[in-house]
Amino acid sequence: MICLVLTIFANIFQTGWTGPNERTFIAVKPDGVQRRLVGEIIRRFEKKGYKLVGLKLLQASEDLLREHYWELRGKPFFSGLIRYMSSGPVVAMVWQGLDVVKMSRKMLGETNPRDSPPGTIRGDYGVEVGRNVVHGSDSVASAQREIALWFRLNELHCWEDSSSHWLYA
Ligand code: UDP
Ligand code: MG
Repeated sequence: MICLVLTIFANIFQTGWTGPNERTFIAVKPDGVQRRLVGEIIRRFEKKGYKLVGLKLLQASEDLLREHYWELRGKPFFSGLIRYMSSGPVVAMVWQGLDVVKMSRKMLGETNPRDSPPGTIRGDYGVEVGRNVVHGSDSVASAQREIALWFRLNELHCWEDSSSHWLYA
């Protein structure tokens, strides 16, 4: 019940998730799906101890992607980015846990796979910035905006995590 109220509050006011309830938006991009990396990426987030609260496969519309990447609309790579991101299905996810926004950016690596150390997703599976396999929100505020953009309320699930006592003291 508390989870449901918090979910509604967070979606409407784009705030409300902190501590172990912090949430982020992660998406396996079309190249990641084509290259069969969906399972590997989910595996890393699961094993880390984060909780999956939303998951779907969809082909994103150009309108959705333009809204998602609106901050980059003036960049020279913008139209190529929209074409790439709409070229095939993506796996959109919401993951929850303590410091999940900051930690998932570390798990992804740098924007350019060339600058991403081995052990990160982009460092292990990407070569070029234009095909960097995975998206992750860059701040709590953008996470909230992106979750509200990609997911309806009834697609975000509240479930009791039986391992939470082994993850949080
Ligand atoms: N991108 C690109 N060329 C660039 C910079 C970014 O194609 O020079 C793409 C890349 O797919 C990146 C996305 O635009 O993931 C969004 O860029 P941002 O700076 O937000 O990087 P991110 O947050 O994904 O690391
Ligand atoms: Mg970004």
